[in-house]
Amino acid sequence: MVLADPTALGADPARGSKAPEPAGDGWCVADSSRLYGLDGWGDPYFTLNARGHVMVQPRGERGGCLDLVELVQGLQGRDLSLPLLIRFDDILEDRLERLHAAFERAIAQYDYAGRYQGVFPVKCNQQRHVVEQLVESGRQWHFGLEAGSKAELLIALSLVDDPEALLICNGYKDQRYIETAILARRLGRQPVVVIEQADEVGRIISASRELGAAPLIGVRAKLSSRSSGRWGSSVGERAKFGLSVPDLLATVEALRQADLLSELRLLHFHVGSQINDIAVLKDALQEAGQIYVQLAELGAPMGYLDVGGGLGIDYDGSRTATAASTNYSLQNYANDVVATVRECCEPRSVPLPTLVSESGRAIASHFSVLVFDVLGTGGVQGEAPTPQGEEPLIVRNLRDTLASIQATALDAPAGQGDHLQEGWNDAIKFKQDALSAFRLGYLSLTERGAAEQLYWACCQAIAAQLESWGAATPIPDDLKALQAALAGTYYANLSIFRSAPDTWAIDQLFPVMPIHRLDERPSRLGSFADLTCDSDGKLARFIGPGKAKPLLELHELREGEPYWIGLFLGGAYQEVMGNLHNLFGSTNAVHIRLGANGRYRVDHVVRGDSNAEVLQAMEHDPEALLERLRVASEAAIHRGTLTLPDAGRLMAHLQNSLRQSTYLQT
Ligand SMILES: *Cc1c(COP(=O)(O)O)cnc(C)c1O
Repeated sequence: MVLADPTALGADPARGSKAPEPAGDGWCVADSSRLYGLDGWGDPYFTLNARGHVMVQPRGERGGCLDLVELVQGLQGRDLSLPLLIRFDDILEDRLERLHAAFERAIAQYDYAGRYQGVFPVKCNQQRHVVEQLVESGRQWHFGLEAGSKAELLIALSLVDDPEALLICNGYKDQRYIETAILARRLGRQPVVVIEQADEVGRIISASRELGAAPLIGVRAKLSSRSSGRWGSSVGERAKFGLSVPDLLATVEALRQADLLSELRLLHFHVGSQINDIAVLKDALQEAGQIYVQLAELGAPMGYLDVGGGLGIDYDGSRTATAASTNYSLQNYANDVVATVRECCEPRSVPLPTLVSESGRAIASHFSVLVFDVLGTGGVQGEAPTPQGEEPLIVRNLRDTLASIQATALDAPAGQGDHLQEGWNDAIKFKQDALSAFRLGYLSLTERGAAEQLYWACCQAIAAQLESWGAATPIPDDLKALQAALAGTYYANLSIFRSAPDTWAIDQLFPVMPIHRLDERPSRLGSFADLTCDSDGKLARFIGPGKAKPLLELHELREGEPYWIGLFLGGAYQEVMGNLHNLFGSTNAVHIRLGANGRYRVDHVVRGDSNAEVLQAMEHDPEALLERLRVASEAAIHRGTLTLPDAGRLMAHLQNSLRQSTYLQT
């Protein structure tokens, strides 16, 4: 579906954080940019404009930009409601360009007498439009695909029609998988069957005999170099995949005896996803480089060294060897691959291999942005209740505490810390007293309610005082916890199980921030609760300087105005790992392209699941469910408990919701 966009979008001259007018309180968009770490992780695709909106530069430094807020408004005008997954195909293309440019530079710098030829691991994002776009954009470099299952192999065989592109076949393989790869060679494809398990060589040999033809063969080495990150167990002796050195040697012998050693072309290894520390990669490369040399010396023709995936993403922009970051750049990575392989091969006069990599995360993370809306906020209520008649002593104590906090001189922070601290200690003590009294039956529910409200009013009064101190005055340690106590819950129109499952499953951090109002000081701390009835359904870890933080700086909601949040760098793995918890289905997704005139174009619209679709996924028949309700409403009409118009309305709601998205309509 191609829709020409009627609205001109943004070549905003004031792009970036270049000295916009500061708001009344001295806050400017550059402060937001720093606060949310945009300068680190956003570069070069995401910046802010003078209006306080997130700007997207889908082609990086090569020019052209879009105002993300205007884009969302434009998409809403096309009846595409939030939550919305916006895929920038230009970014996908730009990532591919960068990867190839980095290897080209490294090859030139180290005078490497060989080439680079990458593949995309389909498991990272199998969506049709994504894979098609990658194949299309990658054609100029003979970019191929990597498959780890029969279904992925089908995608790879069918979409890659470039005879020079590689199709790397990983994963468990049965006879049919292997025969498919052998026969596909006759279609002019280049599938390389990578032996990952010792018993696969037998199946390859028998399939080759059966068909009278052989596949291109690769072997996956189980390296002893340890990765440090979350996926560290992908290597080492207990790793799930790969051949140990004895197995490798036995495989070579088996191939030799079957007269298939001439088809052994590729050595593969994969040290796990998101390599945080470049030192890990260097070790692995040296080990693999030596194995490659030895395989060549054992008589295999070889020709390709496939360094797997693992190229990491700097999610928090800190450029450190921590879980959400990497201590190297794309260029460092390419340099190390090229230089190390050369160092291994040259002394032994082994011809330099074509370098293959299987970067998934590094290619597919940036291009998709999830935008969701906030439905409301919960949290503390700061208003002190008006006294209702004679109040019990505990409630009066809290009122006195509040009055004393409010009486603290605003303009003289020196020495006031103690006073506020005392106020807070009192408030905590009296609130606990109120709870005990309630449990023992001495306080009514209304009185307990008043006590809790007064406690929160005390907290807010202290917070207001602290804020007025300004940054120069240190805040007493005990009082730092206060901000967290006052934090709000922002109810997000989204399911993290569907859209950001790794935040739940493996504590993955993604940059999350409002996409507008960034010229305003965020006045509240909060975290997000999603739509599911699962207490794990929340976003409560955010990137922060140095380490993750449990609360994010957010804005107060404004009556009648939406509040839009973006989750960034989530283009890899999230969609396929997402599930139907509580029957929240896929969100709407769109593919955006920047046109030559600076306007955007909506290339594809992928509608999210409707309620009927998620019901069907669980084997329910939506029509049968509706029919049962129709019968029940007929009976209610008959009994006189439901009027005809109400019955009509009920059935219309049910019918409409079957067709509609599983998310809330706002
Ligand atoms: C998952 C996987 C990849 C992709 O890893 P990234 O960290 O996303 O680059 C590459 N190769 C193999 C064998 C894999 O299993």
